[in-house]
Amino acid sequence: MKNDHLKPATIAAQAAGATDTETAGVVPGIHLSTTYLRDADYALMRPDNIYGRDENDSVRQAEEVLRQLEGAAATLLFPTGMAAIAAVFRALPGGARVILQNGIYWGTIKWVRDFCARRGIFLEEVDAADASALAAACRSSADLVWIETPSNPWLKTVDINAAAGLAHKAGAVLVVDATAATPILTRALDHGADIVMHSASKAINGHADVLGGVLSCRDGASALWKAIATERHDAGAIIGPFEAWLVMRGLRTLPLRVERMCTNAMAIARFLDGHAGVESVLYPGLEGDPGHAIASRQMSGGYGSLMSVVVKGDRARALDVVARLRLFHRATSLGGVESLVEHRHTIEPDTGIPETLLRLSVGIEDAGDLVADLAQALEGAAA
Ligand SMILES: *Cc1c(COP(=O)(O)O)cnc(C)c1O
Repeated sequence: MKNDHLKPATIAAQAAGATDTETAGVVPGIHLSTTYLRDADYALMRPDNIYGRDENDSVRQAEEVLRQLEGAAATLLFPTGMAAIAAVFRALPGGARVILQNGIYWGTIKWVRDFCARRGIFLEEVDAADASALAAACRSSADLVWIETPSNPWLKTVDINAAAGLAHKAGAVLVVDATAATPILTRALDHGADIVMHSASKAINGHADVLGGVLSCRDGASALWKAIATERHDAGAIIGPFEAWLVMRGLRTLPLRVERMCTNAMAIARFLDGHAGVESVLYPGLEGDPGHAIASRQMSGGYGSLMSVVVKGDRARALDVVARLRLFHRATSLGGVESLVEHRHTIEPDTGIPETLLRLSVGIEDAGDLVADLAQALEGAAA
């Protein structure tokens, strides 16, 4: 708690004060032990350390950095983003009613639909970026409202504050997947969310070499949060200590990386917006974007590194543009230091993604190099 007044750049760079007390190392060690000692009186030598399924100092250190960045009461890491999402839904009572934003990360929709059907949880999917649609869904009482902002891959912006008001009136908790925003651009709890979730596999780690997920809450004593913590401990969805250590290593540069990624993304969005070979650019940073005003209120320091671009022509031209790119790696995922391009329809052929939509994850390379790469690819792929 003592560092809560510090700014994100300081919290991140100094890993919330974590050092190696054993060796005096500036960098904390990686604690791999799965079990902990008792003394001759059979008392635990560290009462908070019994067994590694839920008790590990490397995991706790990474959680503390994230907790401070998020301004949260408590934070829990999970082995993947999906495991974090699953922990929330598994903590719901049977017969619960859930309102889920539609058109969000496909992995979430697919798993939540399947889980709710098996569990007898009533699921309603709604375009939460449409305030009146969300208000209508929240007219009946609910247990959980789940939104994702900016959403992946449509880049829709949801007003977290307004969603929290509607959710709370319906008796529900609001959970926000803020993966694309990162805790640097949006602290969702400050805007009224009860729980914020991120895939740490994305910008939080930022180097495309760790899978992880994170949940942070406003009220660590709430019944839902306690159930989530119990679920993690008892069902064992535990991130490994090495992964947690890598997440903390990645977090040290998160504010810097996010700053550069946002500047690069903005330059790319401006280049693509109005380009003769481009139909439209979906990016909340553009003044013409339907979510721009709300995004400007709830994102500070930039609009993120994720954007979608609908190119002119057909599927073949879109794939031709992708094929001609030399710097953007053709791969899924987002938030890493290297720029990626994805033809989303190939991955999700049945969910209404246009065959001409390319999702870009903008990295920290030189903006001019990235723009030049896109320019030559669009130029070369004749419409
Ligand atoms: C990647 C992603 C997830 C899932 O995270 P994993 O770490 O891949 O399990 C959830 N939500 C969003 C928005 C994502 O981009």
